[in-house]
Amino acid sequence: MADRDPDCLFCKIVAGEIPSEIVFSNDHVVVFRDANPKAPTHVLAVPRRHVASAADLTDADGDLLAALFGAMRRVAADVGLRGYRIATNVGAEAGQSVFHLHFHLLGGRPMSWPPG
Ligand code: 5GP
Ligand code: ZN
Repeated sequence: MADRDPDCLFCKIVAGEIPSEIVFSNDHVVVFRDANPKAPTHVLAVPRRHVASAADLTDADGDLLAALFGAMRRVAADVGLRGYRIATNVGAEAGQSVFHLHFHLLGGRPMSWPPG
C-alpha cells in the first residue's frame, strides 16, 4: 500500500490540503478536532501513512500504534480530561465512514456503555 491514497479525505487533511483544527502532530501522527463533535472534546488521531482501518494493521505497526496512543495520552492530559473513551470503528457495519484508520478520543461528559 502506498503511503497515501489520492482519494482519501484524511490523507488530504494530513497533507494540509483540507483545513482542520490540528491539536497535535509529529512525524507519524496527526490529531485534529472532529468536524461533527459528539462530546465537548472529540478529536481524531490518525497515522500520516494511509492505513484503511485497524483490520489493515500488521505486526510491523507496533511503533505506529504506540505513537498514536502516546499522542492521545498527551492531548488528553493537555485538555485536562480525567476520563475519556478511545474508539475505532472497523468496517461500515461498525459505523466506519472514513476509511483511513482513526481513533476517536472523546471526553468532557459522562459516557454510557455499551455504545450503540
Ligand atoms: P467514523 O464514522 O469513520 O468512525 O468517523 C469519521 C469521523 O470523521 C466522524 O466523526 C466525522 O464527524 C469526522 N469527519 C468527517 N469528515 C470530516 C472532515 O472533513 N473534517 C474533520 N475534522 N472531521 C471529519
Ligand atoms: Zn488516507
